[in-house]
Amino acid sequence: ESEAIAVNLKRSIDENNLENDVQVVRTGCFGFCEKGPVVKMVPDNTFYVHVTPDDAEDLVLEHLIKGRKVERLLYVDPETKEHVSDSKHMDFYKKQIRIALRNCGFINPENIDEYIARDGYSALGTILDEMTPEESIKVVKDSGLRGRGGGGFPTGLKWEITLQSESEQKYVVCNADEGDPGAFMDRSILEGDPHSVLEAMAICGYCIGADTGLIYIRAEYPLAIKRLKIAIDQARDYGLLGKDIFGAGFNFDVEIRYGAGAFVCGEETALIHSMEGLRGEPTVKPPFPSVSGYKGKPTNVNNVETFANIPAIFLKGADWFRKIGTEKSPGTKVFALAGKVNNVGLIEVPMGTTLREVIFDIGGGIKGGKKFKAVQTGGPSGGCLTENHLDLPIDYDSLIASGSMMGSGGMIVMDEDDCMVSVAKFYLDFTVEESCGKCTPCRVGNKRLYELLEKITLGKGDEGDLTRLRNLANVIKDTALCGLGQTSPNPVLSTMDNFPEEYEAHVKESK
Ligand code: SF4
Repeated sequence: ESEAIAVNLKRSIDENNLENDVQVVRTGCFGFCEKGPVVKMVPDNTFYVHVTPDDAEDLVLEHLIKGRKVERLLYVDPETKEHVSDSKHMDFYKKQIRIALRNCGFINPENIDEYIARDGYSALGTILDEMTPEESIKVVKDSGLRGRGGGGFPTGLKWEITLQSESEQKYVVCNADEGDPGAFMDRSILEGDPHSVLEAMAICGYCIGADTGLIYIRAEYPLAIKRLKIAIDQARDYGLLGKDIFGAGFNFDVEIRYGAGAFVCGEETALIHSMEGLRGEPTVKPPFPSVSGYKGKPTNVNNVETFANIPAIFLKGADWFRKIGTEKSPGTKVFALAGKVNNVGLIEVPMGTTLREVIFDIGGGIKGGKKFKAVQTGGPSGGCLTENHLDLPIDYDSLIASGSMMGSGGMIVMDEDDCMVSVAKFYLDFTVEESCGKCTPCRVGNKRLYELLEKITLGKGDEGDLTRLRNLANVIKDTALCGLGQTSPNPVLSTMDNFPEEYEAHVKESK
């Protein structure tokens, strides 16, 4: 539909002889999915929502020619019922700060000039011109940036370890194997701003001493792949990838590798195996990829969102970045806000923002005026948090302390009608499907866990099953080989802790 809107806008602009004055630019995602398709007029920043192809002519005749806003396409504030034309004044955007998403919705991702016009590749140029790898890594360390893929490991430290691992050949890997159900943070960044990731990978290559970057992306992301390919070709044409970048004697190029969509391949050792043509199975760490990764060489793996923060950190400084977010989790986090919330969409908020602010201020509260029941953070291996957690500041450590985790940024909201035992079963079903089968606790344990949950939800369980459920969940957590298995019982344990009455109600049902 967005493409039809763009075509109709262009046609109407041509018919009215405005082609020399007005441009139609196809951008990446604005984030406000609930109100899409969106058309933004610049320079006056009028934000039109729920636009259809039939509205294109009115936008040209009324807005562009007569200078009048098309009221029926303006956002209506749910509280005041007034029209709001600038996204800055919409509740959905007011509390957001965009660093990783800074260019999404602003530039044409298929035109490198638009990225360059927003200071694109100038961080790389400055670093190559003025800084040593050690000095550059210090900036990343000072910023306090932590891995946005979910682990939260300090990015600068990871780069430093890879720099210190001696080898003639090293690799930079971008993990774009986003697999959480309902999550689309990395896809949107790649679709909306692929050059920021390429620039960051080149900066990382310079810092650690690598000349090759590999982007591991799931094949189900055709638009992201298309835009990445265009971006790589354009960067090569401009001499920003390839040999002797900026005449600084630094060589770096990027290749794309395709994943088949296995969730476990988001784990870095499984991802590397998959790139090597082996089964996508994790291995025990150490050795860490920073020491022995792709083809046994030191390999730095970061995810898309982590890389998307890097150019901004170099452009604005580590101190600027540290002032956003919390002391231990500086910066922002991108979340895919989904489920029973009014404003479904892609958001980026400072770390330390509370769940209440995300769900009620940005998300606009629960759909249909229903009561909030729980929010699942951290994807299928995260936990379900309750009303008691609504004032919890979102950062890596507080989420883990409350029985969930940050994960890569999936956030699914549930209302009073959702059965939490069924929710736990849904996530476990996903884990059972996605287990690679290498270790017994995850391969067999999760299957048994699922069977117990099924028995309980069918009203055939007893008190003993609840004890068995908790014991088995704890065993899997303690003994599974990789992160997927170790965190897979989280939805079960967190719902048992936070909603014991729902489990008991199912058991009573069977008596
Ligand atoms: Fe594979 Fe699960 Fe074991 Fe990880 S925990 S190695 S996904 S079987």
